[in-house]
Amino acid sequence: MNVTTRLRLLEYARLADAADGALARADAQARATRSTRDDAFADLGHWMHAASTAGDEYQHAALALQQALASYQRLADVERAAAARLQRRTSAAHAARDDFDRAWAKAARGVPHAGHSATALRLLDGLAAMPKELIQAVDAVTVQSSGGKDSVVLVDRLATWGQQTGCLDKLVVVHADLQGADWPGVRELAERQARRYGLRFVTVRSPKTFLSMVEARGMFPDAQNRLCTATLKRDEAAKLFTEITRALGLGEQAVILNCLGIRAAESPARSRKRHLAIDKRASNQNRLVLTWHAVFDLTEADIWEQIASRTLEYHPVYDTLIPRLSCTYCILAPFEVLVEATRLCWLWNLDTPTAYLDVEDRIGHRFTHKFSLADVVAEARRRDQADGPIAFEPGDAIRRHVGEQAAAAYLERLGLSRTAYLARFGLAA
Ligand code: SF4
Repeated sequence: MNVTTRLRLLEYARLADAADGALARADAQARATRSTRDDAFADLGHWMHAASTAGDEYQHAALALQQALASYQRLADVERAAAARLQRRTSAAHAARDDFDRAWAKAARGVPHAGHSATALRLLDGLAAMPKELIQAVDAVTVQSSGGKDSVVLVDRLATWGQQTGCLDKLVVVHADLQGADWPGVRELAERQARRYGLRFVTVRSPKTFLSMVEARGMFPDAQNRLCTATLKRDEAAKLFTEITRALGLGEQAVILNCLGIRAAESPARSRKRHLAIDKRASNQNRLVLTWHAVFDLTEADIWEQIASRTLEYHPVYDTLIPRLSCTYCILAPFEVLVEATRLCWLWNLDTPTAYLDVEDRIGHRFTHKFSLADVVAEARRRDQADGPIAFEPGDAIRRHVGEQAAAAYLERLGLSRTAYLARFGLAA
C-alpha cells in the first residue's frame, strides 16, 4: 500500500473516530437529560398526590403542581431533542465507519482490518518507519524549534531528509518567541539553525507575554494547568496551519507534517507518546495534521553526540548546569535548576529575577506550590556568596556528555574565541 493511500485511510479513520466521539457525547447527554426528566416525573407525582390530599392547602399544592408540570414538559422536550441528536450521531457514526470499511477494502484487497482506531495506529507506525517517503507524500512540513538541543538535531535530521528527497522547499521552521521569558539570543539562534540549510523560518508570537498572562490570572501556571504552553506556543503554532493551508490552495485536503523534538527518554509521560499521531485538534476538512516525533528514540547522549559530530550550534546555557533551553524560569523546572538559572542571570546582567520577583510579590501567589521564587533567589545569593559567581567554559556541555576530545574538535571547527562564542547571543564573556 503506498504512502498516499495510507494517508487517505488515516483521514477516513480520523473522521470515523470523530464521529464515534460525537456519538459518545450525544449518548452521555441523552442519558443525563433522561435522568433529569425522570426526577421531574417523580416531582410531578409528588405534587399530584399533594394536590389531591391538600385540603385547606389546596391552592399552594395546585400552584406547585402547575409548575412541576411545566418543568416536566420542558424537560421532556429537551429529552426528545437529545434523543433525536443521538439518532443523528448514530447514523453519522455508522456512515463514517462504512466509509472507512469501503476505503480499506479497496486499498487492502480483501485483507480484514482490526477496527479503524487500531488500524490507524498501525498505519501511523508504518509511516513513521519510512520518513523520506512520508516527506515526499505530504504537502508541507512544519518543524517546531525552540532553539534547544533536541530542536537543533530535529532540524538537522529533517533538513537532511529534505535534501535527500528534493523536498527542502516544503519545510518551514517555526519558532514561538517567548518575548523575554527565555534566554537572550534564542530566537536568533533558532533562525541561524534553520538558515544553515536554507530553510524558511517563521516566528510566532502570542499577544500575551508570560508575565502579562500571570498578572491577568493572578497566579502562575502549573504542571496540571500548563496555560503557558497553550497560550505562548501551541495556539500560535495552530494559527500557522490555517495560513499554510490557505497558501497551498490545493482545492482538496492538505496533509501537514508537524515535527516536534520530543524524546521518549525525557519522562514517563513522553515515553507513552507515539512516533507519529493524528493531531485531532488541528485537523479538519481542510487539513490533516500529523504530529511527528522524529527524534523520539534518541537518548540525551545521542543528541550531544550529533551536536558534536555535525557541529550544530547550541546555546551556552547548556555549558552551565542548566539542562533545558526553556523559559529562564520554567514552572516545571526543579528548585536546583532555578537556583542556577538565577545565578546565570546575575552573571549575564539579566533583570529576569527582579521582574519575576516583582510579579510574585504583587499577585501574592507563589511560583510553585512547593516553593517561591523568593526562596530560589535567597538560595542563589547564598551560593554566590559561598562559591563566587557561576563559572563555565565554551564546549562544557559536549565535554560532559561526549568527552574532551569531541569538545576540542567541535570548538576547533567553530573557530570562535570565548568572547565571540558568547557574543553571538549578545552576552559578555
Ligand atoms: S518553558 Fe516552562 S514556563 Fe515556559 S511556556 Fe513552557 S512550560 Fe511554561
